[in-house]
Amino acid sequence: MELLFEKSRCGRGLSLLPACDVPEVQPCDCQLRKDAPRLPQLSEAELSRHYTALSKRAHGLNDGFYPLGSCTMKYNPKINDEMANLPGFTGIHPLQPVSSMQGCLKALDELSQLLCAITGMDDMTFQPAAGAHGEFTGIALIKAYHESRGDMGRKKIIVPDSAHGTNPASANMNGFAIVNIPSAADGCIDLEALKAALGPDTAGLMLTNPNTVGKFDKNITEITRLVHEAGGLCYYDGANLNAVMGVVRPGDMGFDVIHLNLHKTFSTPHGGGGPGSGAVGCKEILAPFLPIPRVVKKEEQYVLCNDFPQSIGKVKSFYGNFLVVLRALSYVLTLGSEGIAEAAENAVLNANYMKKLLEDVYPVAFVDTCMHEFVLDLSQLKKETGCSAMDIAKGLLDYGVHPPTMYFPLIVHEALMIEPTETESKETLEEVAEIFRSLREKAYQDPEALHNAPLSTPVRRLDDVRAARTPVLKYDFEPAPAE
Ligand SMILES: *Cc1c(COP(=O)(O)O)cnc(C)c1O
Repeated sequence: MELLFEKSRCGRGLSLLPACDVPEVQPCDCQLRKDAPRLPQLSEAELSRHYTALSKRAHGLNDGFYPLGSCTMKYNPKINDEMANLPGFTGIHPLQPVSSMQGCLKALDELSQLLCAITGMDDMTFQPAAGAHGEFTGIALIKAYHESRGDMGRKKIIVPDSAHGTNPASANMNGFAIVNIPSAADGCIDLEALKAALGPDTAGLMLTNPNTVGKFDKNITEITRLVHEAGGLCYYDGANLNAVMGVVRPGDMGFDVIHLNLHKTFSTPHGGGGPGSGAVGCKEILAPFLPIPRVVKKEEQYVLCNDFPQSIGKVKSFYGNFLVVLRALSYVLTLGSEGIAEAAENAVLNANYMKKLLEDVYPVAFVDTCMHEFVLDLSQLKKETGCSAMDIAKGLLDYGVHPPTMYFPLIVHEALMIEPTETESKETLEEVAEIFRSLREKAYQDPEALHNAPLSTPVRRLDDVRAARTPVLKYDFEPAPAE
């Protein structure tokens, strides 16, 4: 497919900038660019067709099943987009007087209260732009807390081996050393390993619950008690909240600080790196350290308050990705407390149903009931047929199914991590389970065909390593001809 730059023809297209209705200001010479930007020049029709063609070559939630584990790729109701697109919300400027954006501040405050109620937290910030950014912010709160008490020896954060890679990275970026602890045979935290890791140098523990193998840790209150007893704080990676929202609260499990991926659990379309929100909630003891400015209600007026001397400062410009907050607010208000719990229960039900449909032919990494996702272990299949988790994933593409998460968590070899979500029907789950089963048959009968999959997609199997190592991120203009 031709790129926009290749389709460009000099002089084509038109600019429809409205006439200037404010006094013109002439920038000084040093502010002016020397050369005109090299932008593609196309007509509106060509541009529209280009993006439509691109969109048809991608797979999204509106195209089909998307069981990408740990990502909660559920269908996001369009009403939430519509609410976030209301002109009163999209037409504002972050620097306009607060008296003229009371409704927006109220939306921030309301969602904060609702999500605090859902998670058992006391306060919240929407500044972080993604989950990993929320983790970084939450761990910074833990650091500020220990430092504010003069407790300077706490240099370590404990992270289980099933954790998302962003957990150790966020702790490390805050200057902490990482203590990795192994999982027990059931996929949960090994209590003895935790006890051995705890000490006067423990700043905290980072935990995902249910964890990345889809298990709710049955010892969770004991785990958080042990960490608190050692003087550490507990961080909850809330990327998997879709499994438990409205049913059980991280705050009641003993966690002090959490992040939520509003773009996973609370209805913002994601994938492709679009704007997200890693909202961070915390207990009272950590609230003084939250980023500024904070939305505060003073005598029936919302104000943006910077007067928090212990704050860690800003982690992003202004107030975070506001439209993501609006989608989440619309979603929570539409579902209500019953609907939120029902969504979580159906997510768990769907995962267990699909697991049942597969487990006689694909061994499940950790048996028993799962939460909202489960992990298949394809190492035996690979040994017997030569077909890997990657081959099965690529085979799915030919059936219009987005592959599950592959090779994660790292503690399972040849892992496929499936998260069907609550928005899929029983029929879809059955159809896709049939596809999985037929791909396994194919692996035994004609492994070569699977090594070559996909056959029907716009591009065939990509060289992942080359794509990661030598990404081509910008258009390579031919050198301009000499004058
Ligand atoms: C997605 C995810 C994250 C990171 O969130 P981003 O928004 O992608 O930065 C962290 N932990 C877990 C368990 C996740 O699934």
